[in-house]
Amino acid sequence: MIINNFFVFIKIGVLFYTFVNKHKKVITKTMILESKKRCMMYKGSIEVICGSMFSGKTEELLRRLKRSKIAKLKIAAYKPDIDFRYNEKKIVSHNSNYIESIPVKNSADIIDLSVDAQVIGIDEVQFFKNDIVSVCNKLANRGKRVIVSGLDMDFNGEPFGAMPHILSIAEKVTKLHAICNDCGEIANNSFRTYKSNNLIHIGEKDKYKPLCRECFSKNMS
Ligand code: ZN
Repeated sequence: MIINNFFVFIKIGVLFYTFVNKHKKVITKTMILESKKRCMMYKGSIEVICGSMFSGKTEELLRRLKRSKIAKLKIAAYKPDIDFRYNEKKIVSHNSNYIESIPVKNSADIIDLSVDAQVIGIDEVQFFKNDIVSVCNKLANRGKRVIVSGLDMDFNGEPFGAMPHILSIAEKVTKLHAICNDCGEIANNSFRTYKSNNLIHIGEKDKYKPLCRECFSKNMS
């Protein structure tokens, strides 16, 4: 009788230990997204941060890259060499937050430059040619966490460059919104405040304003 009770006690102990350990692993996996362990355990992935101008896309990209750096992961940041609004070799947000980056002419250059990186950030991804899609796929297939940010729509409200394709292949998509300059609602569009039909025209608040669907429609007519 005493021996039977002893074995039942041991069995309950083992079950309890197994339960706690199992749940501890699940908590660790979901809570610490930037951990080194995670980077080694999981396959690569593509994350997209998109939205209109002034929606905080670059700020969010910098936040994710900086958290990865704190987790002691090797990070690398790139941007198209046409975007020199703030600083040639930095990715800078509207809040003057920044991280060192390398301007690249062709997206394929990112593959050679980022061999040692575990986490790769690419800003203003809509300015790259369509081969940026296969570049992102290659990097993710090599086990890297690829985080891209950029405009999902151009000044006409049309899908911008390769962005629709990247959105399709991404594991995770975050769409951010600005505040409509005309009515204060959630803004989805980047309205160009001067006349030009060029698809790419780098500018700031002097040339663009974020607008909601209704105000964008009114301003465009
Ligand atoms: Zn509005």
